[in-house]
Amino acid sequence: MNPTQFIWIDGQYLPWQEAHVHLQTYTLHYGAGVFEGIRLYNTIKGPAIFCLDEHIDRLFDSFSVFEKEIPFSKKQVKDAVINLIKKNNVTAGYIRPIIFLGCGTMSLDITHAPVQVAISMWPWAKHLGDDAISIKTSPFIRPHPRSTFVDKKINGHYINSILAHMDAKKSGYDEALLLDYNNNLAEGAAANIFLVKDNVLKTPQLGSILPGITRAKILEIAKSLSIKTEEALLQKEDAYQADEVFFTGTAVEISPIKQIDNYLIGNGQIGHLTEKINTVFSSIISGKNIQFDHWLTYIN
Ligand code: PMP
Repeated sequence: MNPTQFIWIDGQYLPWQEAHVHLQTYTLHYGAGVFEGIRLYNTIKGPAIFCLDEHIDRLFDSFSVFEKEIPFSKKQVKDAVINLIKKNNVTAGYIRPIIFLGCGTMSLDITHAPVQVAISMWPWAKHLGDDAISIKTSPFIRPHPRSTFVDKKINGHYINSILAHMDAKKSGYDEALLLDYNNNLAEGAAANIFLVKDNVLKTPQLGSILPGITRAKILEIAKSLSIKTEEALLQKEDAYQADEVFFTGTAVEISPIKQIDNYLIGNGQIGHLTEKINTVFSSIISGKNIQFDHWLTYIN
């Protein structure tokens, strides 16, 4: 991760070297904060942010669980993201807003914990077309919907993702596949999962997963291509027997899956619906798709 010149924190642009927090920062101890991951693409019409409104909406929605006021409006945070990109002079990268609780208390009562907002970013130009990956059903399940707000992007939730990812890696797989508390298919450690069976595109219904922004956009793209879609309760056996399987997410974009546990998917080849959706997605993020160009916020 290459540092950029500036980080935005509580309304100020600080040089990267000076953007510190105190050791008694509340979120460092308890994980009580929320964050987003947003992509900046270098399109044919210049740098553009993918789904900025959706990400800032989810950021604020995630923080609502803490029932505390955010000292900046959505508009102010969006403007800060855009200005930070300009100040850092980055054309393709990953943007990481975080709303966290600062110093003031270590009690579980967060009434007096100050709310802080920061945005950092780093240059990153991952491209589509990476190799298909292998995934392993994790011994860890997604947090139970009655343990926490599983649909929010809360910092502390990611211990579950990190442990699942470590376990998959130790077993020689690229990534983890997490089931929910009822053994239904849920999602990856930081990605949603889709499968194709008999030309129908299926994805686990909301409930135990993060409502991925890419997931929602893939469903829209599929509908625009007249592909039949289903949000349903799925089992890992549905994935084993699928014709095509892929992950979606801001970081992984569309990531084809060639193997789940001991099962090879679609003979290890990238499937034709995956290719078709990938082609449209790729045209959108390179600024070449008129129909979905409004998903991009151009920086100029
Ligand atoms: N699930 C989890 C647990 C994630 O961390 C992510 C990445 N944000 C996703 C799914 C994919 O969501 P999105 O498409 O909004 O990046």
